[in-house]
Amino acid sequence: MTGSPDIRACVIGFPITHSRSPQLHTYWLDQYGIDGCYAAESIAPDGLPDFLLSVKQDAAGYCGGNATIPHKEALLALADKADATARILGAANTFWSEHGALHVSNTDTYGFLANLDAAVPQWDRRPADISRKAVVLGAGGAARAIVFGLISRGFTEIVLANRTLSRAEKLVGHFAAAAEQQNCRLLPLTLADAEAALVHTDLLVNATSLGMVGQDELEISLTRLPVSAVVTDIVYTPLQTGLLSAAQGRGNRTVDGLGMLLHQAVPGFERWFGIRPQVTEALHRHMLQDL
Ligand code: NAP
Repeated sequence: MTGSPDIRACVIGFPITHSRSPQLHTYWLDQYGIDGCYAAESIAPDGLPDFLLSVKQDAAGYCGGNATIPHKEALLALADKADATARILGAANTFWSEHGALHVSNTDTYGFLANLDAAVPQWDRRPADISRKAVVLGAGGAARAIVFGLISRGFTEIVLANRTLSRAEKLVGHFAAAAEQQNCRLLPLTLADAEAALVHTDLLVNATSLGMVGQDELEISLTRLPVSAVVTDIVYTPLQTGLLSAAQGRGNRTVDGLGMLLHQAVPGFERWFGIRPQVTEALHRHMLQDL
């Protein structure tokens, strides 16, 4: 048996029934023979402060957990200590109690980058004197984590295309200083103008909820996208979205969104249970059974 006996972590959200996190963490707990559990807790927004206080005071039975909609911003606001990524993104998805203090982190940027690193090694490598351009569709919480990751990986131009232009502009404003420091140009656009921006693009990301089961399809012509570009969709239900099919059909390398979900969970599991878990093909297959 590995680790302390009966370590307990959880995911909190409202509602919480849709969360795949218990299935994922329970797989790792079984695989590594850890005497612990990972539960789902439905916590309404007005119950969040009390719940987190009980985690800090060791009264909830949990050493930490993940937070999903609608708690990510409130979790950061209620934390005693936040890591740099959570502070920069303005939201947290991972928490743990340490010496009576509530610590939080945001692992979405890590998950996005680690998924691409695993699926397309060297996806972000080009000679230092050659520009690297990404087009990110969407300007919500996920797009924020992705833009931060792309700035940190040295992209020189990032186009942010969103249905609501003002939200894209706000996101560009949020990262203006960080982008300038890295010599990265950020450009806000409407989603309708995204097609024209695909020329010379190295990476296309769908970070909207379009293409997801129950949502409208993402309508975008890829005609201007270089065939050398990598295309990734963070929507993972369905795994093979219309965007990925269209991109594959014309010869682009594609990366689905399930890997981001799996990789973003790694740092939390290591923090609570003391082992850095592996994201394997077997884990992908396990999670696909229930998608
Ligand atoms: P969010 O903050 O609610 O943002 C939603 C984004 O989708 C916004 O840019 C929004 O545009 C756009 N959108 C929604 N409906 C649209 C429509 N009908 N037409 C055009 N644009 C539309 O959500 P989020 O947290 O960023 O998540 C976005 C998607 O990524 C979700 O499907 C989520 O499940 C998925 N996700 C996946 C992972 C993963 O690990 N793979 C992680 C996080 C999120 P407006 O600003 O104009 O409303």
